[in-house]
Amino acid sequence: MALLDRNTSYPPSFRAEKLEQDQAELLSKFGLLDARQPLASPIHRVDCYRKGQHYQQDVGPQYGIHYTDTVNQLRSLARQHVDFFQSRVIDLSTSGTQQHLVLENGQQLQARLLVLATGGNVINPLAFKLGMRQQATRELRSLSFAFDICRADGQPYDFQSFNYFLDPREHQIDYITLFPIGDSVRINLFTQWHPKDMRVRAMRRNPMRELDEYFPGLFEQIGDSVPTGSDKVALFPTQYYQLSKVEQPGIVVIGDEFQSVSPATGKGLSKVLTDVDVLSGLIPQWLETDGMTVDKIQQFYRHPDKQAVDSLAKREWVYLADNALHPEIISKVKRKLAKLMGVG
Ligand SMILES: Cc1cc2nc3c(=O)[nH]c(=O)nc-3n(C[C@H](O)[C@H](O)[C@H](O)COP(=O)(O)OP(=O)(O)OC[C@H]3O[C@@H](n4cnc5c(N)ncnc54)[C@H](O)[C@@H]3O)c2cc1C
Repeated sequence: MALLDRNTSYPPSFRAEKLEQDQAELLSKFGLLDARQPLASPIHRVDCYRKGQHYQQDVGPQYGIHYTDTVNQLRSLARQHVDFFQSRVIDLSTSGTQQHLVLENGQQLQARLLVLATGGNVINPLAFKLGMRQQATRELRSLSFAFDICRADGQPYDFQSFNYFLDPREHQIDYITLFPIGDSVRINLFTQWHPKDMRVRAMRRNPMRELDEYFPGLFEQIGDSVPTGSDKVALFPTQYYQLSKVEQPGIVVIGDEFQSVSPATGKGLSKVLTDVDVLSGLIPQWLETDGMTVDKIQQFYRHPDKQAVDSLAKREWVYLADNALHPEIISKVKRKLAKLMGVG
């Protein structure tokens, strides 16, 4: 078995920073929960603030993680069991029996099965070459921000985690979440802004002033706060797509390369870990018989667990976007439904 990546170490990157309960359970099932970094205590209670109301929610164990450190830790464990090749894959050809890869460093490799987990978001020339296309939905977009903060008086925050939800109809902002990662407190802000929106620059330049404007009463709730460290405000734009024409011999596409995810839904790791879970059930069976024909590959894309998590991730994204973009239609539909069901 071989693991190929263009980088030896996963570079610093703004990706998933919180592990939800279902994701922690899958990592635990793989025997890898202790590979998350940092190995911090779980969050069990979230303070929430919505429409001027403060309430607390008990949650299954959640963990703040550094995505980069976690991936690198997982990779160092994997390297004890696989051959690792550090190079960009620049070409590939596939068939029902043998797959062929060309690496940027000139090496060529053969395999029975390829698993493409290249992270998506940009059009991938390898998938494109095989005729796979991103079927995008322009209205489904998200723009996320992240930075570290601390209380201005140097005291610790008196919450384990804090979520402040907005009505996305007002400013196309979904919510902010604050949670510990190691010794720092991280803030993630999830919006549906276009990357060229004027508000993006203001948020990067003066995040505390902007948060104060969009989230009334935030600093009364959590205490006066300041950004920490010299790290700039990180941001990441995404748009919904799913890859088409994926049912092909010899190759499976997983994670964000197969279907993008809105960070606001917190479903990205559920998707990629479910893909891994489903594949680890199927691959040993596939290898028992000759060939890697399309009927084997279809079992992955048509697996109920995979379809359920992909469809949930999309539905939650649509729900967020519908609320922000078509508030009148949505509330009309909701009222109609409520009438039909005899409630409200
Ligand atoms: C800002 C942000 C916040 C998020 N927050 C959350 C959250 O709170 N909870 C959650 O569940 N999800 C969250 N997500 C989603 C989650 O991060 C992703 O779903 C997940 O990281 C996808 O993992 P992946 O393995 O598909 O891709 P990646 O982790 O991006 O891995 C892709 C890998 O492919 C390699 N690669 C690419 N092309 C080549 C090539 N040609 N040759 C060799 N190697 C190549 C790259 O080097 C990289 O190592 C967030 C995403 C973003 C952007």
